[in-house]
Amino acid sequence: MEQKVAVITGGAGFLGSHLCDRFVQEGMKVICIDNLITGDLKNIEHLFGNGNFVFFDHDVTNFIHVPGKVDYILHFASPASPIDYLKLPIQTLKVGSLGTHKALGLAKEKGARFLLASTSEVYGDPKINPQNEEYWGNVNPIGPRGVYDEAKRFAEAITMAYHRYHNVDTRIVRIFNTYGPRMRLNDGRALPAFVSQALKGEDVTVFGDGNQTRSFCYVDDLIEGIFRLLLSDVNTPVNIGNPAEITIKQFAEEVIRLTNSTSKIVFKELPQDDPKVRRPDITKAKELLNWEPKVDRETGLKLTIEYFKKQISV
Ligand code: UDP
Repeated sequence: MEQKVAVITGGAGFLGSHLCDRFVQEGMKVICIDNLITGDLKNIEHLFGNGNFVFFDHDVTNFIHVPGKVDYILHFASPASPIDYLKLPIQTLKVGSLGTHKALGLAKEKGARFLLASTSEVYGDPKINPQNEEYWGNVNPIGPRGVYDEAKRFAEAITMAYHRYHNVDTRIVRIFNTYGPRMRLNDGRALPAFVSQALKGEDVTVFGDGNQTRSFCYVDDLIEGIFRLLLSDVNTPVNIGNPAEITIKQFAEEVIRLTNSTSKIVFKELPQDDPKVRRPDITKAKELLNWEPKVDRETGLKLTIEYFKKQISV
């Protein structure tokens, strides 16, 4: 069988680099594109000697030129943590809109299947819990998170337009909070913040009263779900995430316990438009992809804590 070729935008990022690993393991040729504004070559340097891996330093909001055939395009380029997209609002809007347009153009040109990394943020501060794919969401377009939420909503819209109008074979994954090795220690998200604070014996900063909820998925589970979605024939959005919901305060306590830390919790101001609840309804993924997460939070957290310990001691 002819070797498949996959283009992964954002391939040097947290999720993108795990996808690069998975696709190389599957025997495919991987073309990783990243401009390294939030990605890091450290995440992919172990692949540099591999003949089935190529890296291009490129901003995908500009025309993407890839020679030869392409079978799959996975569009994962975007700042993805609230702190990153507050710092990079224009880049976030551009990569979700112009970048998605360029990646779809490449898919159309090559006759490749296209998978969009969308997000639970399309549901905004949701008025239903858990969130299923039918829910249209509750997003503040002009709030601080709007740059990410609306960019991803636009990205979904243009993906469906290319599917319907140009017959591009598309997939949309709505990714819920995911964690694991290669998250950036300082990306501002709850999990890396709590783990690094706990490991250093610093105060653990819970925003608001800590009663807001999230549901954390271990990265290996997420990658498996994305892989199954890509190989499926489902064109409409599919939630991939772990439905085990926890309050942020309980989560902070759990991190302190698992790191054997003496850190104390301190409460800080809640950022504007911070979603009060978040939990994926994964019925669709279960039924159509036969997928559900396998790694429980304690197991996943222990693996992630080990990774962060090494990062801190470097
Ligand atoms: N959060 C927190 N302390 C931190 C960072 C985040 O309490 O140091 C809270 C944040 O306000 C949110 C939740 O943890 O309610 C998850 O935030 P994160 O930045 O991980 O991502 P989000 O799920 O909001 O996109």
